[in-house]
Amino acid sequence: MAIDAAPKSIFSATVDLDARGKHFGHIQIPFSRDDAAIGNVLVPLISIKNGDGPCLLLNAGTHGDEFEGQIALRNLAHALQVKDVSGQVIIVPSLNLPAVLSNARCSPIDRLNINRVFPGKPTGSLTEKIASFFLDELVSRADFVVDLHAGGTNYGCVCFGMMHRYAKAATSRATLAMLKAFSAPFGVIFDTEPDRDGMLDTAVEDRDKPFIAVELGSSRAVTPRSIAVTMRGVRNMLVHCGVTKGDITAGEAPTQILGVPAAGFVAAEDHGMFEPFVDLADMVKPGDAIGQLHSIHRPDREPIVHRIKDGGRVVMRRMTGTTTHGDCLVVVGVPIDPGF
Ligand code: ZN
Repeated sequence: MAIDAAPKSIFSATVDLDARGKHFGHIQIPFSRDDAAIGNVLVPLISIKNGDGPCLLLNAGTHGDEFEGQIALRNLAHALQVKDVSGQVIIVPSLNLPAVLSNARCSPIDRLNINRVFPGKPTGSLTEKIASFFLDELVSRADFVVDLHAGGTNYGCVCFGMMHRYAKAATSRATLAMLKAFSAPFGVIFDTEPDRDGMLDTAVEDRDKPFIAVELGSSRAVTPRSIAVTMRGVRNMLVHCGVTKGDITAGEAPTQILGVPAAGFVAAEDHGMFEPFVDLADMVKPGDAIGQLHSIHRPDREPIVHRIKDGGRVVMRRMTGTTTHGDCLVVVGVPIDPGF
């Protein structure tokens, strides 16, 4: 069936996802605007298909200011040979294209974060339309989904894969195996997701498909090492999911599995200028000060010291100085036995 014959979507793909071979094209969404009465937004889409086998969906650019995944998936699309594939790899390297073009987390067109609008809406705003097509036409085909992120403008992060628990323990185990096979230094299982509704994670997990997201770098600081870790991870995903043959390439050490309790998110108690006392990957003890907020307008006021309730390893921290009341300052994970 041709993709544009699908009943739930008014959009089209310029790639025939049922065709064998490597095909570069776009998700085409009509977009009429001041400078183009008959215009389109064209989100890059690549399909590499050969014979029967599993389908792996790889995407990046969910947030437009996160770059490792966007670069690595472009490299992969060129390097991967059709003859080496058994099944299908679908690549969407820059999912929220308008955000990517603006180097921004959210789309400048409708101000939406695509990772909060899933399942999307075929008759909604542009970002909602992209989400709807991605879920209905691409996730629906996939057996495994990997969503590549990074710290973006505001956050630094140790390189970690992440997952949530599934209703079915078997799917949790399959997803944990993916998380380990990616071979990032850390793997985080979030029992508490502060903003779960609308996330791609939730939409895929509700369909009981193994899904991992990966946080690959810090604050736009793309480095040769962060690209290398990303390339190793996505190649490992191909092997692990059975799309290509080969061996998993291990990281420097096995992935350390961490959990993040609710108290592992430390939020700013006021507006201010954040001064960190801890850095990424640091170990902190219960009650340790992780940083302090200085009053921007009233330097005569004492800074507010923020403490972590439980100990653990700093996996994310806010990088920009000026911070708004309620913003997360650090995320601290603790080693766990997943128990599934
Ligand atoms: Zn992101």
